[in-house]
Amino acid sequence: MSEKHSIVIEEYLLLLYQLRGAGERLKAVTLAQRLKSSAPTVHATLQRMQRDELIQMDDKKEINLTREGERLACDIAFRHNLAEYFLCNTLGIPWYEVHKHAHQLEHAMTPTVVDKLAAFLNYPETCPHGTPMPGHSLPEDCFTLDQAEEGMMVEIMMIAEELEDSEELLKILHTQQVIPGQKHQVISRADVMSSMTLQQEEQQAILPFHVADKIHVVQVED
Ligand SMILES: [Zn+2]
Ligand SMILES: [Zn+2]
Repeated sequence: MSEKHSIVIEEYLLLLYQLRGAGERLKAVTLAQRLKSSAPTVHATLQRMQRDELIQMDDKKEINLTREGERLACDIAFRHNLAEYFLCNTLGIPWYEVHKHAHQLEHAMTPTVVDKLAAFLNYPETCPHGTPMPGHSLPEDCFTLDQAEEGMMVEIMMIAEELEDSEELLKILHTQQVIPGQKHQVISRADVMSSMTLQQEEQQAILPFHVADKIHVVQVED
């Protein structure tokens, strides 16, 4: 097997890694939805990956990474997060914009560049969206924002990778200061509206539950 896999396969590995990190089940249909690809295209690529021993399918058609698949997925996730960190913190590209650029860069980074860049950046532990680097994890007491109760003070830890595909949405979160490291109070939950209201100083943010459930937080003291 050749060491260098195609960009498409790297994209699949990265997505599988991210989906698993988000606690989702790894199915061909989920990949097709997220990649906006047709089912036959996804199946063809998955077959190639099975042949190359990067994944296995169990009898419930769930995808599992093999040891080699796991290693390569960690490698591409590391490159992706590192590229985002560099673009945001060194080049000053806004955090809501770096994902799409990193998606291009990640495939072009040689092992030497990755090593040197990681050292140059002093081995960051998360990407600018709070996603932990492979080998690191979110705090144990992390939960998704939609689970937070009224009156609770929370600190944003991670905006799930899935939301990064929508720069428009990230920009709204940015203007509302819903950014990793920021603290907000949950003012109210409106189950009939499927939304919740956060407050930080004078500013309020209204978030629908389907966005809040992809934002990971920890409870903090007032
Ligand atoms: Zn990203
Ligand atoms: Zn990210």
